[in-house]
Amino acid sequence: MELEPIIGLEIHVQMKTRTKMFCGCINHGEHENPNTAICPICTGHPGTLPVLNMVAVTYGVRTALALNCRILEHVKFDRKNYFYPDLPKGYQISMYDLPVGVEGYLDIPATSGAKESDHRTRIGITRLHLEEDAAKLLHSPDEQWSFVDYNRAGTPLMEIVTQPDFRAPTDARRFLQELQTICRYLGVSDADMEKGHMRCDANISLRPAGSTAFWPKTEIKNVNSTKAVERALEFEIRRQTKLWQTNTPPSTSTTRGWDDGKQATVDQREKEGEGDYRYFPEPDLPPLHFGPLQPIDPEVVRRTLPELPAAKRHRFVEELGVSATDVGTITNDPALADFTEQVISELHAWIRSTPDASDDLLAKAGRTAGGWIASKLLGIGNDRGTSFGESKATAENVAELLTLFLTHRINSTIAQQLLEQMVVTGADPSQLLEEMHVEQVSDTDTLTTAVEAAITAHPGPVADYRSGKSNAVQFLVGQVMKATKGTANPGVVRTLLEERLRSI
Ligand SMILES: [Zn+2]
Repeated sequence: MELEPIIGLEIHVQMKTRTKMFCGCINHGEHENPNTAICPICTGHPGTLPVLNMVAVTYGVRTALALNCRILEHVKFDRKNYFYPDLPKGYQISMYDLPVGVEGYLDIPATSGAKESDHRTRIGITRLHLEEDAAKLLHSPDEQWSFVDYNRAGTPLMEIVTQPDFRAPTDARRFLQELQTICRYLGVSDADMEKGHMRCDANISLRPAGSTAFWPKTEIKNVNSTKAVERALEFEIRRQTKLWQTNTPPSTSTTRGWDDGKQATVDQREKEGEGDYRYFPEPDLPPLHFGPLQPIDPEVVRRTLPELPAAKRHRFVEELGVSATDVGTITNDPALADFTEQVISELHAWIRSTPDASDDLLAKAGRTAGGWIASKLLGIGNDRGTSFGESKATAENVAELLTLFLTHRINSTIAQQLLEQMVVTGADPSQLLEEMHVEQVSDTDTLTTAVEAAITAHPGPVADYRSGKSNAVQFLVGQVMKATKGTANPGVVRTLLEERLRSI
């Protein structure tokens, strides 16, 4: 029997507001010493009253709009009651029947390399609502003691619930990655799953292909990376397929946790029904109204939205000429996207100012810049273990370097060497070029000719090198140095020779 997976996601996103949801305590206090970013409100002392953080509400509206949701005109908070030490008040302030946004959707981008229009999956967004985070529980290794850190209590959260529209674990991963990118573009959260800024529960059931019924679902909790979500879902598909094959498909809804060490989901407590929470309207907060003449007007908020990742990817490919393979990497990080756009704009200006300027060259600019930034610039950072933010290469200098490369003043090997130095020191490429003494022989043509001549004239050392005697290259370097009367940089000559010898 052919089985079809039905997958839905429930995502909690911590918002990076300065203060907490209902008090003036500094948000993100979990990085501080335990229980230092707390006050009587977020520790649930009797007689305290919550004060709503309107920035958090605006962030919720921004995100709901970016997810194409309809914003409700009237919204209210509700109490979700449950008893647990991470919840000092005995209830969580959340939203039950009137969330901020409903009926939205998000299109999952095409996989890298595919044309954007080739494959796109639309995932429905059921709702987006606001609530407060609970405290963090820590347990002693012998499990004799539990500790509560209230720094996280009251952190503003958005909960985003999708329709059960996913049919493949990889789509769930791509959805989460797109949501992360959107949150970063909107500036509402860093959405780092490893750091707990974004937490995801995934629910999954199988059904015979062609059926429209839903079977009891399994909810997977504690998944802390987008890749782990994909793996956990793949594991569940295998586990549930076996149950179907033995005629024992799941008969009740269950909750399982993801064990990263075992790469398996494991049984957890049964899911509580909604009725157990005894939701009722929060009496200490007035209902919220959105619209003209209200403190938050969604149409005004909509005008402040930045260009979103999907639109940026489309524009980078269609207007700037960046390749579909590189555009995902570049637009994942809004700062990197801005940098690339600046490089391409500077590169156009540089090219126009050179005698070699041509439409053909201008057309190549975006593709070349995108490729160099996505693979070489980021690659240098990866090798050094540094992030893009730590690179000292300015957009102007990268554009100048790429002009030298595109107009054949330097070859890709030298351009790569210069870029490595630019990343570390922030130096200007022409200045570096002078220091490397390649300027006088920069016409790589001269060097390439000398390299070719040395290779043709000395088949012995060439054969030695190719049979594994790497020292043989030294003799050839000497020949090129002689031919260029010592004006070439031996390091560069060596690199050029090795590059050429490998390609023979
Ligand atoms: Zn507080």
